[in-house]
Amino acid sequence: MRTVQATYVDGAWAPGTGSTEVEVSSAADGSVLTRFQGAGAEDVARACAAAGRAWPGWAATPVTDRADLLRTAAELVEKRADELGATAAQEVGTPIRMAPIVHGHMVAATMRDVADKVESHTFEERVGSSLVLRESVGVAAAITAWNYPLYQLATKLVPALAVGCTVVLKPSEIAPLTTIGFFEALAEAGLPGGVANLVVGTGAEAGEPLVTDPRVGAVSFTGSTRTGVRIAELAAAGVTRVTLELGGKSASVLLDDADLATAVPATLNGCLLNNGQTCAALTRLIVPRARLAEVEEILAAAVAQLRVGDPRDPDTAVGPVASAAQHHRVLQHLRGALDDGATVVSGGLDAPEGVPAGGYYVRPTVLRVEPSMRIAREEVFGPVLCVIAVDSEDEAVAVANDTDYGLSGAVWSADPDRALAVARRLRTGQVAVNGGAFNISAPFGGYKRSGYGREGGRFGLDEYLETKAVQL
Ligand code: NAD
Repeated sequence: MRTVQATYVDGAWAPGTGSTEVEVSSAADGSVLTRFQGAGAEDVARACAAAGRAWPGWAATPVTDRADLLRTAAELVEKRADELGATAAQEVGTPIRMAPIVHGHMVAATMRDVADKVESHTFEERVGSSLVLRESVGVAAAITAWNYPLYQLATKLVPALAVGCTVVLKPSEIAPLTTIGFFEALAEAGLPGGVANLVVGTGAEAGEPLVTDPRVGAVSFTGSTRTGVRIAELAAAGVTRVTLELGGKSASVLLDDADLATAVPATLNGCLLNNGQTCAALTRLIVPRARLAEVEEILAAAVAQLRVGDPRDPDTAVGPVASAAQHHRVLQHLRGALDDGATVVSGGLDAPEGVPAGGYYVRPTVLRVEPSMRIAREEVFGPVLCVIAVDSEDEAVAVANDTDYGLSGAVWSADPDRALAVARRLRTGQVAVNGGAFNISAPFGGYKRSGYGREGGRFGLDEYLETKAVQL
């Protein structure tokens, strides 16, 4: 079992002093990877004090020096991509064939992109007789989820550091090991003590004191909508700025002229990415009724080909979900769907065959559902795709938008202009037209209950900046 210290404050690792023991288990077989005392309120206060002390020096460091340091850290993350990927395969369940990419190379690429963007960012401009200054908010707090722990650091901690903030990070207690590896890389890159601090603990014991600490100038959160609401309420008392990256129930809209052979497997991949544990996962496939049978046939054939298994096995396409609690939640959602009358197109409640005992495996499942069913409305965060039949383009748009969430979406049509017209009608923060690829420099964030604020490229920098007008 790995020995872990719960805090990294002022450049030194130390045990947590909270009252809760954190236990990290392997998604692959349920074995305990590590167990340690979590961080508590005192550790958070110590971390915020350290970040507060380090801020003036870090904010005064030339932006090119900060960017260069982040590039050095990116290089170290890149070098460790295989090791970070192997850790994520265990604690998140990401299949090893893609884990080093999403938890390593893509993280490093995003860090470099942030370093480039901050060097060309506008920190001062003349507006008539005024000088407008953009200044770092001071200490930024970041709280992350367990699904892509390092990508979330690249879009929170890294832009905050780039603009001159110092940071206290609280990662998810379910999957903190990759984050600990990332902090080792930051230390090796030569980041001064106190500039980036880590407290690993539960939401109640470490997260809440962090959000309410008076030294914190901005909070950036990725996680469930429920926790996001709680954080926004807590932050409101201190009038602290908040960025919320929350849940989703994103729709992939097939128009009647879509190329099904491309669109349907791509949607399934977009749903099953990271075993369905992706906030922007395409979890609803909206299909013209006349093409429903064809679509279901393609889906059933594609699911039958998927190898479900140990995430450490390079042949595995779909691994387990991250925790026993998440496993239970996904199966509860599936049971509820069957009670509500959903039709199984492929998969189901039975455990997949031939997987390691003790792991948190769920069969990739495709259901035909009605838009009113709970499974079509609630975020599952597991390998479950809902197919919904509609009778017109207008109905497709109405169903796609008939959700509390507004994170992502996709549109497919043989006519790109027609697809773009539908993309404009979707109430979501991002839309992919005919498989348009994810762009790390584009703004990422939600409409409605998927949150507010934007991450990514130059857009993410503004979340950590105050604006001052100096009248001359
Ligand atoms: P979660 O809300 O349970 O936890 C997220 C983080 O918040 C964890 O670090 C947790 O310890 C902390 N936390 C919990 N209660 C807290 C409290 N009261 N105060 C402060 N912190 C608290 O979410 P999760 O289960 O870890 O992640 C899954 C969710 O994250 C899904 O809903 C998913 O859609 C969402 N997500 C969103 C994005 C996005 O960019 N929009 C990205 C990834 C995941």
